[in-house]
Amino acid sequence: MASEKCTKKVSSVMDVNDRLLAGTPAVAGTTVGKACIYRRQQPIVSNEHLTEEQVESQLAYFHQAVATARQELQSLSRSQSNGDVRDLLYAQIEMIEDPELHEKVEEEIKSNNTPVDAAIHKVFDIYLGLLSERENADSPERSVDIIDTRNRLIQILHNDENEQITKETIIIAHDLSPREVIKFSEQQVRGLVMEQGGESSHAVILARALQIPMVVRVEQACSRIPAGKVMAIDGASGKVIVDPSAEIQDKYRVNDLSTVQSQSTAVQYETADGHPFILRANIGFADELPAMLASGGEGIGLLRTESAYLNNGHLGSEQEQRSLYEVLLKETSPDIVTIRLFDAGGDKFFDLGQQEQNPNLGWRGIRMLLDEEKLIRQQLRAILIVAGRYPGRIRILVPMVSCLEEVTAVKKHIADIRQELKEKEYAVDADIELGIMVEVPAVALQADAFAREVDFLSIGTNDLTQYLLAVDRGNERLSNLYSQRHPALWSLIQQVSQSGDATDTPVSVCGELASDPVAACALLGLGISELSMTPTALGPVREELQGHNLQEMQQLADRLLESTTTAEANELFANF
Ligand code: PEP
Ligand code: MG
Repeated sequence: MASEKCTKKVSSVMDVNDRLLAGTPAVAGTTVGKACIYRRQQPIVSNEHLTEEQVESQLAYFHQAVATARQELQSLSRSQSNGDVRDLLYAQIEMIEDPELHEKVEEEIKSNNTPVDAAIHKVFDIYLGLLSERENADSPERSVDIIDTRNRLIQILHNDENEQITKETIIIAHDLSPREVIKFSEQQVRGLVMEQGGESSHAVILARALQIPMVVRVEQACSRIPAGKVMAIDGASGKVIVDPSAEIQDKYRVNDLSTVQSQSTAVQYETADGHPFILRANIGFADELPAMLASGGEGIGLLRTESAYLNNGHLGSEQEQRSLYEVLLKETSPDIVTIRLFDAGGDKFFDLGQQEQNPNLGWRGIRMLLDEEKLIRQQLRAILIVAGRYPGRIRILVPMVSCLEEVTAVKKHIADIRQELKEKEYAVDADIELGIMVEVPAVALQADAFAREVDFLSIGTNDLTQYLLAVDRGNERLSNLYSQRHPALWSLIQQVSQSGDATDTPVSVCGELASDPVAACALLGLGISELSMTPTALGPVREELQGHNLQEMQQLADRLLESTTTAEANELFANF
C-alpha cells in the first residue's frame, strides 16, 4: 500500500474565498509552512486462496506483523513524556494485543484459507461494522484508530514504508490517528489542519500535548488547498490562510510554537549555586498521591508495597497489584515509580505461622520472598506486565538484601517471568532497572560488588541505623541510642556514595534521614543528589537545598564525618 502524500494534483486558480479558510480553533499557536495533503489510501489486499502448506507461514507473518506494530508503538510511547499521548498509544497497543482479534484472524486464515492481509482486513471490517451500528458518540474517533491499526498491520506485511515529510510542512488531512500525529510530530511538521475533528478528538489531544498548532473542521481542506503552496495557520482563531502575504508570514512566524517546542524542558530543582537535585516521595498507598503531587515530588522513590498487607491483611491479587501500579504510573507521569518488592517480616508483621526469637534479624524482606516463590513471582509478574505498558518508568527495588546470591536469584526470577510474558506476547520493558536497598552494613561495605550487579542503590537509613548500631528501631527503651545522625552512619553513607561514583551507579537515600532538611544538605555534600522522603517533607527539604550552595553542604558533610559522637553531630545540625 502506498500512502499518497504531498500530492501535486489540485492546482486550480484561487480566488479570495479560497485564500482564507475558516475552521475551528484546536491548538493555539501560529505557524507558516508548505501544504502537504495527506490521504490515507485503502490498502489493496490479496484475493488468493491459500494452500494448506501456506497456512502456517501466514499465521507466523501475522504474529510478526503484530510484534513489529507493537514495538513501533512502544518505542513511540517511550519517546513521549506526556501521559495523554502514552494513554492513546497504549489503547492502540491493547487493540493489537486483543486475544479475540488474534483468535478471529487466525480462524479466518486456518478455516477459510484466507491470506493474512485479507484476513486482517476482513476481521477489522467486522469491528468497524459493529461500531457503526452502535452510533456511539466515540464511534468516529474509534474507527479512525481501528482503520489506522488495520492499515499499519497490512503496511508492515506489504513492507510499505512511509515517505519522509519535510520539516517545513503543514499537514492537511481528512482525519488523523494518534499514531499519525505522533509520527508527524517526530518529523517536525509545523502545523496540522483537518477536515474533521472536535475539541476532544484524539488527534487534537495529541497535537495539544505535542504543541503542534492545529485547526480542525476546515471544510474540504484537502481539495481546496493546493499541495506545496505556502500557507499560514492560527490555531487560536481557527484561521487558515493560503498563499499569505510576506507581512502575514512574518506576523505568523513570530509566535511559531514549532520553533520554541524543543526548548521546553521539565522543571529541575537546583541548589543556590546551580547543582541539580531530585526529590521523590516514599508512599505506601495511592491516597498519598495528592500530597506528593502538591509538594512537587518528582515521582516515587519508594513504594512500600507491603503497606497493602498491613492495611488489609493480605497482599492483594496480581490484578489488584497491577491496578495500584497503573494508578500510580498514570498520576505521576512522566516520572519514575520505584516499586519495592514486599518487605514483610521483621517489625512489619507477617504471619505465616512462624514465631521468631529475633524477627529483625530474621525471615524478612527478600529472605522471605525467595522462600515464598509464588508470592515473589506473582508480584514480579504484576510489575513486569505494567512495566511493559509504561516502559522506562518503573524501577524494581529489592529489600533487606544481605548477600549477592539474593540478587542473582531475583534476576533469575525476572528473566524467567519476562520470557514467559514474551511467549504470551505481552509487551515487555527489556531495560527495567533493578536496584537494592542498602540497609544491611555488609552490603554497604561491599557496595562496589553489589553496584556492579544492579542499576541503582537506595540507602535505607532506617534499617541501616538499626543494624549498624545494633539498636532495635522500634524499641522505645533504646530510643536514645537510635540516631540516624550517628557518625558511623555518615561514614558508611560516604562509602556507598563513593562506590556509586566508582562504578557509575546512581545512589539515592530513601530512609527517614532524607526527610530532615539539614541531613538532606549533608547528603548532597556527600555526593548523593537523589533523595526520597515522606511527602510532607518535600517542601521544607527543597527550600533548604535551594538556600545553600554545594560547598556549604560539603563542609557540613566533612564536619559530620569528623565528629565522634551523636551529640557532636546534633550540634552541627543545630548550627547549620
Ligand atoms: C529503611 O529501612 O530506611 C527504609 C526506607 O525502609 P523501611 O523503613 O520501609 O524499612
Ligand atoms: Mg527498611
